[in-house]
This record gives sequence, C-alpha cells and structure tokens, in this order.
Amino acid sequence: MIILKTSSQIELMREAGKITGAALQTGGEMVKEGVSLITIDRKIRTFIESHGAKPSFLGYAGFPASACISVNSEVIHGIPGDRVLKNGDIVKIDVGACYKGYHGDSANTFAVGEISPDAQKLIEVTKQSFYNGVAKIQEGCRVGDISAAIQETAESNGFSVVRDYVGHGVGKNLHEEPDVPNFGRAGRGPRIVKNMTFAIEPMVCIGDYHVKILENDWTVVTVDGSLSAHYEHTVALTDNGVELLTLL
Ligand code: MG
Ligand code: MG
Repeated sequence: MIILKTSSQIELMREAGKITGAALQTGGEMVKEGVSLITIDRKIRTFIESHGAKPSFLGYAGFPASACISVNSEVIHGIPGDRVLKNGDIVKIDVGACYKGYHGDSANTFAVGEISPDAQKLIEVTKQSFYNGVAKIQEGCRVGDISAAIQETAESNGFSVVRDYVGHGVGKNLHEEPDVPNFGRAGRGPRIVKNMTFAIEPMVCIGDYHVKILENDWTVVTVDGSLSAHYEHTVALTDNGVELLTLL
C-alpha cells in the first residue's frame, strides 16, 4: 500500500530532508585523497545526531555504519572502514536521517582529485538521468514514466542501469511502496498522486548492469568491475508541485 502523507507529515519530511541533505554535503566536502571512509562516516553521524536526528541506516537490517560509502565498482551499500581514498576514485555517499519519525534519503557521487573523462561523464549522466525522471512527475503520471526517462538517459549515453536495486517510497519507513525502478516503460506502474513521497535513485554503470554482493553480505559491486555512479533525492508531489526534499 502506498502511504500518502498529510501536510504536517510532509513538513516533518522537509525537516528530515534538510538534515539529510546537509549531512550528505558535509560528507561530500570531506572527500579527498588520503581520507579514510570511516572518518567521513563518523562526521556524518555526528552531524545528524547534533541536529536532533538519527542516522537511518545505522542498525537497519544490521547495517554497521551511519552512511553507505561505496568506491569505484562498488555500487551501493559499501561499509565505511579503514579504506583510504586515492586520486582518481569516485565515491558514492548515501545518507539517511530520521527526524521526529520521518526519513530523508539522499546520495551523490564525488570525485577524488582528478578522475577520468569516462568517470566524469558517468557522474554527469547519472545526475541528468535523475532530473529527466523528475521532469516527468505530475499528478496522475505513472512510475514507469520516471523509470523510462532515467533508462533512456543512461542508455542513450552508452551506460546501463542497475536492475536489482530500485528507488522506493519513503516516510515513516525508510522503504515503502511503491518501487521506483530505474528502468521500465512509460505509462506503466502505479500512479503518482499528490502527497506521495518517494526516493528516486538511479544507479548507472559504465559497463554491464549485473551486480553481486560481496562476502560482507552488504557491499554491492558490478560483476564486470566497471565504475558505477549513484544520485538520489527524496521527492514529494505537493500543492507546491514537485519538491526535492533533500536538495539544499
Ligand atoms: Mg539512499
Ligand atoms: Mg534510497
């Protein structure tokens, strides 16, 4: 069941979204050569907690950190540890913050120093695919309209979209209905109506879209070892139109 939100619930989600967005920005600003992932994670946790919120991912299904930090061919759900960033890496940081019972969820991909032109293009196309998906949102449209726009953007640039993980409704729960795939057909899927809140999160790969999970039971990597990028905001359709709740 898709849970529609009241205006006061959406107001709380705006607050959660602001904290989430700012925590992600704080993490992103730390991305540079020589910095360990655990250092970034600790800073994000401190930021979220100092704003009266809780890191949504900490303890979620047993996840051991506050942010998911995934490097290069790691797609999502990377566990921040002692790994130190190197020049040329691309780093995906995914952050959730729960404020007064409501979650924000947002991710971005950051460059460490100088990255390859292919990696730069991947990051730009992933972000563009998100915005092309968002541009399709209007009262009564279908989830598939968003999905198809994302897929078309990625594939027309020679990239692929991950199938095994998708965007999702968000609210009191970090993951709610509906699924918001990054692939699909326009005109299909659940209708988008006012007061829905959901996360759109394209995961785009330079190579093939097949992924596997590492032995730590969390980290999702591309099977072919190609680079992957991720971009995510929590979105609401309200009387104001489309709102990106985690965009600062
Ligand atoms: Mg996320
Ligand atoms: Mg998400």
